[in-house]
Amino acid sequence: MPLECYCGERPDQILEVGFTSDRHMVIHYWCSACNRVIFTSRTLDECREMCPEPDVDPAVADAADATFLQSLGISS
Ligand SMILES: [Zn+2]
Repeated sequence: MPLECYCGERPDQILEVGFTSDRHMVIHYWCSACNRVIFTSRTLDECREMCPEPDVDPAVADAADATFLQSLGISS
């Protein structure tokens, strides 16, 4: 997904990706132009919209999501 600092530069290093309890994806990244850590959060739906997988059967994709979330300790 596209990431961009407040200054408009693209971050050159993603530091950490995690999930909040309300299923927002939180991304921490480093901007070498500002020398600061930026973080952003997105919902899983927003992630899907930005990273479409048209070749994947929706039912299979849902199952994969559920497995992925369970692997992170997030049960549905
Ligand atoms: Zn910046």
